[in-house]
Amino acid sequence: MSQPQLITVLGATGSIGLSTLDVIARHPQRYQVFALSGYSRLAQLLALCLRHAPRFAVVPDENAAVTLREGLRTAGSSTEVLVGEQALCDVSEAGEVDAVMAAIVGAAGLRPTLAAVKAGKKVLLANKEALVMSGALFMQAVRTSGAVLLPIDSEHNAIFQCLPSHYGQGLASVGVRRILLTASGGPFRCTPLPELQQVTPDQACAHPNWSMGRKISVDSASMMNKGLELIEACWLFDARPEQVEVVVHPQSVIHSLVDYVDGSVLAQLGNPDMRTPIANALAWPERIDSGVAPLDLFAIARLDFEAPDEVRFPCLRLAREAAQAGQSAPALLNAANEVAVEAFLQGRLRYPQIASMIEAVLQQQPVVALDDLEAVFEADGKARELAGQWLARHGR
Ligand code: NDP
Ligand code: MG
Repeated sequence: MSQPQLITVLGATGSIGLSTLDVIARHPQRYQVFALSGYSRLAQLLALCLRHAPRFAVVPDENAAVTLREGLRTAGSSTEVLVGEQALCDVSEAGEVDAVMAAIVGAAGLRPTLAAVKAGKKVLLANKEALVMSGALFMQAVRTSGAVLLPIDSEHNAIFQCLPSHYGQGLASVGVRRILLTASGGPFRCTPLPELQQVTPDQACAHPNWSMGRKISVDSASMMNKGLELIEACWLFDARPEQVEVVVHPQSVIHSLVDYVDGSVLAQLGNPDMRTPIANALAWPERIDSGVAPLDLFAIARLDFEAPDEVRFPCLRLAREAAQAGQSAPALLNAANEVAVEAFLQGRLRYPQIASMIEAVLQQQPVVALDDLEAVFEADGKARELAGQWLARHGR
């Protein structure tokens, strides 16, 4: 039997990180953990190190390193603790590493994810914000290095599964008319509009079908998540924004569809459990057990579809406009959204103000070309600055 593949899991303490480690642990002959990273949940990271025995664990600062080293030493673990963003890049590009799960949330994941791409790794992309921010540069790096980029987002993984393997030559050349990106509609799909003024972070994070980190949960409630996914789909599948149609499908059983010119529509179905796309990408092009229960169509009984309401979900409109504007617009959108969501989670913004803040930032900051990574971070920083000013004027 061949050697197990060595995997780095960036963002191991998060929702995707834990699901990834659950799948990995089911296949010890196939996969071993090379490195894990955490940020604030150090006790969780320690437990994961003891369970998966990685060669390296990465934490954000020296204080965290001292705490983690002490815990590891007491337990007799030989895991080595590394510190900071450069260490995240190092464990992503290390020669021994076969695959990197990019599951840090937000812009913080961009540099380490790009390091994995540039090193030509198999990159399992959950961190959609990285691709949204730097799309053209990111995809150019994939082409240059020969990295294998596999989507973890359930919708994009579904689309990937419904496309033929040679889709890279362009959607038209494989007979695709459009991509149908499904959305659950989140917890506020039917909430009376005036009540949205009062909704709390906990209500926003109570997703009807998926259990996820708090940032993506708020994004799902506002449908900014679908907007980011629209941009993500354009880059991953070389599609134009108008080739991607959002379809609200409240049951989250169909994870997305591909509509072909002959009238065939291919869909991928499954229980809403991220271990399915994770196992699909980890083992691709093979298939492995993910631990997910078989789909029970009789229990589901019906599947519903509706058009998205952009009055209820202005973030979806803002993201589509940013996708159409291109260049720095998606990076500005993403950064303003990160600030807005954080402020909402801290109780400093009301839910409808998330969209207002993002729109204000996009109106103030001109769109420019992004020729290099510095330009990406400059756009990101400028949007954060403007968002901070807006928050000071309108937040509580
Ligand atoms: P979580 O909030 O659960 O996890 C985020 C991870 O990133 C944690 O390990 C966290 O560490 C780490 N982290 C947070 N901030 C930083 C930082 N500044 N520097 C380094 N590490 C950091 O999020 P999810 O797992 O839900 O989501 C992760 C990514 O996957 C997101 O981009 C999301 O959009 C995407 N995704 C998630 C899905 C899901 O079902 N959860 C579905 C599709 C995509 P710690 O916890 O120790 O603070
Ligand atoms: Mg998704």
